[in-house]
Amino acid sequence: MRDFDGLRAIVTGGASGIGRATALLLRERGAEVAVLDLDPDAAPEPLHALRADVADDASVRAAVAEAIGLLGGLDILVNNAGIGAAGTVEDNPDEQWHRVLDVNVLGIVRTTRAALPRLRASNHAAIVNTCSIAATAGLPQRALYSASKGAVLSLTLAMAADHVREGIRVNCVNPGTADTPWVGRLLDAADDPAAERAALNARQPMGRLVTADEVAAAIAYLASPAAASVTGTALAVDGGMQGLRVRPAATGEETR
Ligand code: NAD
Repeated sequence: MRDFDGLRAIVTGGASGIGRATALLLRERGAEVAVLDLDPDAAPEPLHALRADVADDASVRAAVAEAIGLLGGLDILVNNAGIGAAGTVEDNPDEQWHRVLDVNVLGIVRTTRAALPRLRASNHAAIVNTCSIAATAGLPQRALYSASKGAVLSLTLAMAADHVREGIRVNCVNPGTADTPWVGRLLDAADDPAAERAALNARQPMGRLVTADEVAAAIAYLASPAAASVTGTALAVDGGMQGLRVRPAATGEETR
């Protein structure tokens, strides 16, 4: 018996990176999984993949209803779809602020709103939001993105309080910089991608980026029956970036 046998899950942004790793892991552990993504064709074979734009309420409602039909119900919602933005508070135009907040924050609102009636009917209802280290640490050049993830952290806590008596648990994961196609695109755009990767590695006390599989394992834990008493928490998967203050490694010192 696998721990997700009989459970049904929706993963937004499940065609790439952290969402894809999460959808595949939940499936491997027994869940029926539907991926909602702008690009469903990129999702791997065993997953139900549906097109949805989390910035569009009608699209979300239609896709969530279709997913619930395919899965025969719903127990787990992973609100993972998100987009990035670089810059200080001076740099991003209002339209970009509206766009990033619309996807990263209201996207969670729309998907959760559409899913809640079926989650209430589940005996094992769990929501996991993908938040970020940017919600808890001040990172340079991430004003807008950090504001959006700070809102995701607060929204997670508020949702956990609102729905605890309905038997619906709500938690989030806070990844550090994770080696996904997203970060690959950021590195490709850098003047010196190798130096940029080295700087990102060095920012994390473990000296390397987090993997998508490591974040997926944390999401799966929070979504699983093993976490039945866990709600209103943020689980950092960040190579020690939030909690540790280590001295720079001496030249030649092993990082592990
Ligand atoms: P990714 O770009 O590899 O994957 C994101 C997926 O979301 C893509 O498949 C994309 O098509 C989908 N998506 C984007 N906008 C959408 C929309 N409007 N509607 C539906 N789907 C949409 O990114 P990733 O690195 O796997 O990031 C996933 C989540 O993890 C995001 O919420 C991101 O903020 C968060 N995160 C990432 C990192 C990192 O370093 N990679 C760190 C912390 C948090």
